[in-house]
Amino acid sequence: MPDYISALDLFTIGIGPSSSHTVGPMRAALLFAQALDANASLPQVDRLQIELYGSLGATGPGHGTSNAILAGLEGLAPETCDPESVGTAWQRTVESKTYRLLGRSIRFDLADFKFLGRQTLPRHSNALKFAAFSVDGDELLTQTFYSVGGGFVEAEHSIEKPLRAPVPFAFDSAVELLEHATKQNTKIADIAWQNEIALHGDQEFVAERLKAIWAAMSSCINAGLSTRGTLPGYLQVPRRAADMAAALSAQSLQEKSELSNQWLQAYAFAVNEQNAAGARVVTAPTNGAAGIIPAVAFYARQFRGVGDAKIAKDFLLTAAAIGSLYKRNASISGAEAGCQGEVGSACSMAAGALAAVLGGTPAQIENAAEIAMEHNLGLTCDPVGGFVQMPCIERNAIAAGTALSAVRLALLGDGSHKISLDTVIETMRQTGIDMSSKYKETSLGGLAVNVVEC
Ligand code: SF4
Repeated sequence: MPDYISALDLFTIGIGPSSSHTVGPMRAALLFAQALDANASLPQVDRLQIELYGSLGATGPGHGTSNAILAGLEGLAPETCDPESVGTAWQRTVESKTYRLLGRSIRFDLADFKFLGRQTLPRHSNALKFAAFSVDGDELLTQTFYSVGGGFVEAEHSIEKPLRAPVPFAFDSAVELLEHATKQNTKIADIAWQNEIALHGDQEFVAERLKAIWAAMSSCINAGLSTRGTLPGYLQVPRRAADMAAALSAQSLQEKSELSNQWLQAYAFAVNEQNAAGARVVTAPTNGAAGIIPAVAFYARQFRGVGDAKIAKDFLLTAAAIGSLYKRNASISGAEAGCQGEVGSACSMAAGALAAVLGGTPAQIENAAEIAMEHNLGLTCDPVGGFVQMPCIERNAIAAGTALSAVRLALLGDGSHKISLDTVIETMRQTGIDMSSKYKETSLGGLAVNVVEC
């Protein structure tokens, strides 16, 4: 059985605009630099060659992939880096014609940094290959990595990872998850909590990490609601969240609860605009879909009286338990499954989590998560210009509303329903396989080819 997928792996504090195209490649580049250091060949490196395949090669520039790779080679990590420093990595490397490889200066040649968007490697559409050569042209190290979505990176030849502790309540399906909850007579979040403690060995550590994740999500919303301007890239997309918030704030207090849906969508705009700007953001479970879960959680706090402690535990852990099913049994990657894998999964996670903190039973939670995914099936990924802006930002706001609708429907029932969450996850997987690669984060179809560039 594959490792248990921890909430602390699904929700990571990083940078925008893309988990698979920014966070993953940055981690891969850092791993490559560290491997050179570990095998003592770093001082001999004279030349680097970097190749980006498939979706990374096709939309890498719009997703900040080149900046991320260069920052990773410099030794920066998504969790701790200064986003502004990452945003200028390409410019400073090209201008100085020099890589900074873990502090060592190496000559940079543009011809050695290749965007091979029309070529794919068999294992996954998001592939990166790094090669380092000595002054004599000898190959010192070559490594291929796959950025498989959500910032997760897999090496072609597996890098030894420490074995994780076994969890008390392993599950491969929603049916098994619900069985644990029923047998233990407890909540889904409590099942996930016990697993996290077993994995990480320390209750305090898990609680602090979850609090930090929720704090980063909230800060991202607040920053997005107060920042105006234009998003990076030639599309010149204006930020809208701050104006939305100003317009909503100007309404009378009596109307406040009636405006909750609009606020929900403004929260999603705020996060996705921060993400598109390359700012600090929580991957949830990807960056393209990073607005939905925080927006729904913030809505729960602002309009449904759910406290921060409950969000940092029950909301996030329920969302992660559902998200782990998508990652394990289908995909959370737009390059692999289209936008149904990113926005659909996030919408489903948010719906299940909101149902949980509003007092839903495990069956109602499963129902809410299922409804939310069912109506995202077939959703394609076609970002205009390769930027995570159109349709991504608005799409997160719409999906946050869908999550809320799914919860309302589920809480009106008793949890019994015809199509199970496991069935809809498998349907999403199959639909993703059938989907043309034009609609899987390559910007070769859909809106990406029909929106006229000016
Ligand atoms: S269209 Fe969807 S999957 Fe594609 S980049 Fe945008 S949010 Fe991600």
